[in-house]
Amino acid sequence: MTGRVTLLGAGPGDPDLLTLLGWRRLQEATVVLYDRLVNPSLLLIPDVNTKLINVGKARGTERLSQDQINALLVQYAQAGEVVVRLKAGDPYVFGRGGEEAQYLAAHHINFEVVPGLTSAITGLSAAGIPITNRQYASSFHVITGQKRHGDQQLDWANLAQLEGTLVFLMGMAELPEICRQLIAHGKNPKTPTAVIQWATQWRQKMALGDLDNIETAVKQKRLAAPALIVIGEVVPLAHQLQVKRSLSARHILAPSNLDRSLLFKLQDLGATVDFYVTSQPQRVKKPLPDFSKFRQLTLKDYFSYQYLIQALNAQQLDIRALAGLQLSTSDSLLKQTLQRQGLQIADDASSTNFLNDAKTLIIGPQDLQITAANYYGIYTYQRRELTLEQNLADFQAVIFTCSQDVLDFRRDFSKPESASWMVAFVTSSKMQAAVKTLAFKKVVVLNGDLLNMEQLILEELKHE
Ligand code: SAH
Repeated sequence: MTGRVTLLGAGPGDPDLLTLLGWRRLQEATVVLYDRLVNPSLLLIPDVNTKLINVGKARGTERLSQDQINALLVQYAQAGEVVVRLKAGDPYVFGRGGEEAQYLAAHHINFEVVPGLTSAITGLSAAGIPITNRQYASSFHVITGQKRHGDQQLDWANLAQLEGTLVFLMGMAELPEICRQLIAHGKNPKTPTAVIQWATQWRQKMALGDLDNIETAVKQKRLAAPALIVIGEVVPLAHQLQVKRSLSARHILAPSNLDRSLLFKLQDLGATVDFYVTSQPQRVKKPLPDFSKFRQLTLKDYFSYQYLIQALNAQQLDIRALAGLQLSTSDSLLKQTLQRQGLQIADDASSTNFLNDAKTLIIGPQDLQITAANYYGIYTYQRRELTLEQNLADFQAVIFTCSQDVLDFRRDFSKPESASWMVAFVTSSKMQAAVKTLAFKKVVVLNGDLLNMEQLILEELKHE
């Protein structure tokens, strides 16, 4: 049995810039081999059982050689796996995608290429530079800035004469040399030049200048690879066309199951949201309690309610099985939800005491320490064995929507206690205690109107 290899373009960085076919291929994959530049959030798309392999090549510290990568692709395909080789940008724009394809073809492997948005074009759009323009550039040229092996040189005389926009990839180490050569071969030293780092992400930054002074601008702004060097008369259009949004450059860490509408609102405000991996809640399958023995039902949180309904449904019952019980909760989100559904629900300020009240049934997460007869654990958390390679220092804020999120966050980061520069957003005042030991700069409670959460986040982060 032979499998398939998809050389898949991940796009320039923002995970939403993946193509629809790319998204489907990631869902179908049984093995994913990914590069260093690929956004870790894309690794949440594959199935839980998919094997994820980082073959990332940081300059100097090569983790896997190209030969090893080629061999792995063939090996997995021959073992019948559905392999995705996830590469930054478009697979065939530098980055040796073509060589991988040739190797697969030579080994008669069933393979395909799914194009991605290349940083060479989209990186410019994201920074407000149209790569062509009727007035300023009728062509564009994408060039590698990396030193070639041996004596092979770029044709500088030719490049310097081109009228169109020049875009150098992998050129940061050679920036002074690139500028020097172009000027030496006749390009006007006052040609507008831009350097754009990490396009389409929170750390996107641009330096603007001319061919003869861009190096200073880059140093002042401390820009580094990965970056694009853009040379041509289209560059100054950025002054007019660069779009800034109120949360641009803000990087928020969120639970991977964050409510999509909140996620989209934050993204539309310009924030980059990346994720820590949340455990999945799962209903504990066991007989339901005899409701007739109780007078009151306390629900710990939203999942308790959701799984209770599920358990009732599984027995051909519905919420009317709870008729006669007085409902209470201390979870403000659950309270709002139930009230909207037309249920009366009381505040429960003292739920722990109810353990002693035999007439009150408490339904909540399975907690092995609670053995009281009137506590019914209805769900547990299933951990997903995936840690995304994120660096806590790269985030300005973190969102917690339940106390399990805090545990998951602690698991993903080795020293979360020292995140003293971060603002933490929690969705209930009850959760303030759960994050207390983490020494965040500030803890903001997002209660009040559910629909306005992103406004509260905006208020807090716009001055960060
Ligand atoms: N296949 C990729 C390019 C791979 S070569 C593509 O189509 O985009 C790697 C180089 O791409 C980096 O050195 C950098 O010059 C450029 N690059 C990739 N992503 C980038 C980004 N988000 N911002 C700026 N440059 C990027």
